[in-house]
Amino acid sequence: MNNLVLETFVLGSLATNSYLIFDKQDKKGFIIDLPPDPLELKEFIEKENLDILFCLLTHAHFDHIGGLDLFKNIKVYLHPQDVPFLTDVSLNYSSFLGDPFVVDRDCCLLNEGDTIAFGNHSIEVIHTPGHTPGGVSVKLGNWLFSGDTIFCRSIGRTDIPLASTQQILASIKEKLMKLPEDTIVYPGHGHSTTIGEERRNNPFL
Ligand SMILES: [Zn+2]
Ligand SMILES: [Zn+2]
Repeated sequence: MNNLVLETFVLGSLATNSYLIFDKQDKKGFIIDLPPDPLELKEFIEKENLDILFCLLTHAHFDHIGGLDLFKNIKVYLHPQDVPFLTDVSLNYSSFLGDPFVVDRDCCLLNEGDTIAFGNHSIEVIHTPGHTPGGVSVKLGNWLFSGDTIFCRSIGRTDIPLASTQQILASIKEKLMKLPEDTIVYPGHGHSTTIGEERRNNPFL
């Protein structure tokens, strides 16, 4: 993990976190979530001369996929249950905020227990449905990227199409809360936290 750099970009109208992880030495990297208006991220990548290998989507709401069009040539990973969101303006929620759009892109599929190689590292996929049916969290070393499943002192919305409060709580309690206390959580919105802090202080748990 010593070679890896993590940069956070807060992008789009819903202030969504996009995470860029790259290796300082070989300049290869990947992105977690691509919110609308990713210009700042794109410029950083160009300035640092990074080779972006892929983008992992934690889920397919518009505020996490709206920037994909500016990154046409990279491989995109998504859980199969969120694939229909890409082309459905109600499911991806873009129709509710006045700017409906769809994403026309073939995706590689992410499933529970899959691992994705990144240099010498391996990224683990944890299926955490509830906010969306195909929501995933991804873990690299002691970094957990939780999408809109858990936030610092909060959890993802479940008052939206195909969401489930029961399911999101089960995902958090049965999967995420079993991770080590010192796991750093990087959520889809807001600042980072740890599994230990959320175990003690998250009012929804
Ligand atoms: Zn969402
Ligand atoms: Zn979001």
